Amino acid sequence: MTARKRILLKITGEAFLDEDGNLSPKTLQAIIAQIKKLENSHQFGIVVGGGNFFRGAKEGNILGMHPSSAHQVGILATTLNGVILKNLLERQNISTTIFCAIECPPAGTPITQQGITSSIKKGNTLVFTGGTGNPFFTTDTNAVLRGLQMQVDEIWKGSKVDGVYDKDPYKHDDAQRYPHLTFKKALNDRLNIMDLASFALAEQYSQVLRVFNIFEPDAVIKATEDPHFGSRITSS
Ligand code: UDP
Repeated sequence: MTARKRILLKITGEAFLDEDGNLSPKTLQAIIAQIKKLENSHQFGIVVGGGNFFRGAKEGNILGMHPSSAHQVGILATTLNGVILKNLLERQNISTTIFCAIECPPAGTPITQQGITSSIKKGNTLVFTGGTGNPFFTTDTNAVLRGLQMQVDEIWKGSKVDGVYDKDPYKHDDAQRYPHLTFKKALNDRLNIMDLASFALAEQYSQVLRVFNIFEPDAVIKATEDPHFGSRITSS
């Protein structure tokens, strides 16, 4: 059997919600069905966000919290989502290891390189929760970090938009999508589809990033079949 491609998929917390912002399994179930279909050709690590519950910078600010404490709440939010995701994966008979960057034994095992390597060898799907474990980061940076630890072929950010635009496509009708761009451009133009720390880390280690709309039907399968699906961000 040929080696499976290894992918780190970042799923925003918003994938846990429906169009009206209510809790819904619809998008998650669709993603899981695609992971199941791709079982023989692709092994996935999944970094899960927490934005459906809490984002440190936004909600913490509304509540007047100390930023560091607010980010801790965001970190816990990613952990809640991870436990949900692991359960839904296992209900489809996908063997899953859940890791947690903060000490929380009921949620997941601590993240060690040995643990990651051993789960990859077992053929499991890996779910990473708790972000980097540190405040002031986001799960985008964590996606690059865990992707590097897993030595993946590519990191895919499952977003609400279908790629990287020169300006916010929700605010500007004339926004242009980049099929391909370099990290330098993303950093210089401050294209904030992902946070700048994640671009810098990916560039340093020449890691290929793709951004696509995870809410589009069969988005994950399309990404495996078409290298030009979404926007591709590379070093050169
Ligand atoms: N967070 C953090 N450190 C990390 C990852 C996440 O402090 O390493 C916090 C941060 O406040 C963030 C929140 O957790 O806003 C939820 O993560 P994120 O915003 O990335 O979720 P998403 O937008 O992908 O759902």
